[in-house]
Parts: sequence; C-alpha cells; structure tokens
Amino acid sequence: MDYTQPKVIEVRTLLLKPERLRQLADKSDVSKARELRELYQHIGTLPENQRAAFGREVNQLRDELVEKVNSALDADQALTPVDLSAPFDINLPLDQQPKLLSADRGSIHPLMSELSIILDIFYRMGFTAVESRQIDDDYHMFGSLNFPTGHPARDDYDTFITKEGFIAPAHTSTMQNRVLKQYQPGLEAGSPIAVVIPGRVFRNEDLDARHEHTFYQLEGVYVDRSVHAGNLLATLKTFFQEYYAKDLDIKIQPFYFPFTEPSFELVMSCPFCVKKGCPVCSQSGWIEMLGCGMIHPNVLSAAGIDPAKYSGFAWGGGIDRLVMMKYNIEDIRHFESGKLEFLRQFP
Ligand SMILES: [Zn+2]
Repeated sequence: MDYTQPKVIEVRTLLLKPERLRQLADKSDVSKARELRELYQHIGTLPENQRAAFGREVNQLRDELVEKVNSALDADQALTPVDLSAPFDINLPLDQQPKLLSADRGSIHPLMSELSIILDIFYRMGFTAVESRQIDDDYHMFGSLNFPTGHPARDDYDTFITKEGFIAPAHTSTMQNRVLKQYQPGLEAGSPIAVVIPGRVFRNEDLDARHEHTFYQLEGVYVDRSVHAGNLLATLKTFFQEYYAKDLDIKIQPFYFPFTEPSFELVMSCPFCVKKGCPVCSQSGWIEMLGCGMIHPNVLSAAGIDPAKYSGFAWGGGIDRLVMMKYNIEDIRHFESGKLEFLRQFP
C-alpha cells in the first residue's frame, strides 16, 4: 500500500444515517418534534379566534427547531475527514508524519523468502505444497488426528478459540485429514501422497525469546505401499543437509503424539560446531529439530485410506526456528515485530 496517497474515507456521508440524525435530534432538543405535530393537530380543535395566534407561535417554534438542526448539521460537516485505515493521523503536517517506505522499496519478509527456499528443496524431492488454514475446527485439530475427546494430550495444544467454537490451529497437522482425502484417489491409482504444508500456527504462550504466540510450521505427509521409518529419516536428513548446506548426522529419540505410531523427536548434529559444542546447541553438539513418526492407522482410516494396504510418515516443525538458527537470530519475536532495523538486514 502506498501511504503517500491515502484513501480518505468521507465521514460526511455517514451523517445521513438515521442513527446519526437521531443523535442530532437529541442534542438539539428536536426530540419534541412529535409533540410539534401534535401542536399542529391541536390548532383545529381551538376556537376560531384563537387559531391564528396559536398557529403563528407553533410556526415560530418549528422555525427555531429547523435552525437548530441545520446549525448542528453544519457543525458536524465541518469535521476533518479521517482515514480510518491510516496507521497515523493523516492530518499531521508532512514533516511530523512517520517516514514510511513506499511499497516498491519494501522487501520480502525473511520467513517468506526462506520458506520459498525450503519448498524448493521439497519440490525437488517430488513433494507438492498445500497451504494450511488460519482458522479451523475441532475435528481437524483433534478428532481426525486420533485425539479422543477429553484426551490429556489435547492440553499440549493450548491455542485460541472463538465463541462459535472455531480454532486458531496450534499445528499444521490440522491439514493431514484434508490432504490424505484429497490425494487418496491418486494413491489408489499408484501415485504416492507426497505433500508439504506450510502455515501459520498459534499458541497461547508465555512469550520470551524462544516462544511466540504466532509462528510458522512446515508439515510433511508421505503415504505409499511399504513406507517405513527409514524413508522418513532419509527424507528429513536430505532436507536438513540441503538447507544448511552441510553434511549432518541425525538421530531419533522416542516421543509421543496421538497421530503417529511410533513417534519420534528428531535430533540433528549442530551445523555450526560439528558436535563440538557452541551457544546455538547449548554446548551439547546436538539440536532437537522436530516431531515426526509413522502415521497412525486410525488417521489413515479417518481419511478413507486402508492401513492394511498403505503406510506413511509425517512430520511437523517450526520454520521460524530453522531460520533463526541459519542467521543466528536471537529472539523469535523479531519476526512478528515489524521492526525495520530487523527487516532491513535481509535483502
Ligand atoms: Zn553447536
């Protein structure tokens, strides 16, 4: 948006709204208008010799009221128009307005430029991408992912919910059921399901340098005949080595997710110190990168895929974290801050 040419919303047009007229009437004591009409009707009931004088007084009262209404309207029409969408008071003199970059001098947000690099790696491995939703429902957040109602694992996904029951998704796994259903016919025809799902996710977090209420995740789903955990680990190791342009080691440790069985936490050798220990890996030489596992048979069944015939793997990890490590960014909150001194460091 070019803020040098603000689109001014004409407030004056709002004055014609009945609500506004009613407010004006109250302000000018014109609420007695109904009584005025009654006064006019009253003229006819008076003896003939009193009608003329009474009529004159009523007319005078009407003229006073009309004048009051008109002057109130004029006063309101003299208000300065306001651009309700402007990020500052557009009536400020030019030298007091904030110095904003015009759109053609802007740059792509680092998370988005890194996301295109990440997606490119997966495209080259044969994956396709589907964007996740920013508002979803209980079935896709939990039910379709093998979280029974009231299951304590739901507590690990503390997010925001609307009064109507819609959910701001706490993970991109909300898309698994949709993607599996969408590509199920292709699977039956012999094409594996290979989809990555980038998206914005939300958590009700206490904010600090490593926790933000809004961040990005990348989900991956792969289903075919005879898929095993070795395929999962090879896929993720290839991705990390491409993204950090280094030879890396990975290892897994057991974990629990309702929607994968078995579930793992994937740990990667630190690309910055090669297992020697540095501040990025807290001197351990290893970094926990993401959660992953073999897709639970119930999740496949919920999408109409026969778990006796097909198997698959899935993973989900934070994009912000990948980018923070790559560029040594110390605080996740920079990404959503809109600070130009941060954004200008990225071409
Ligand atoms: Zn390290």
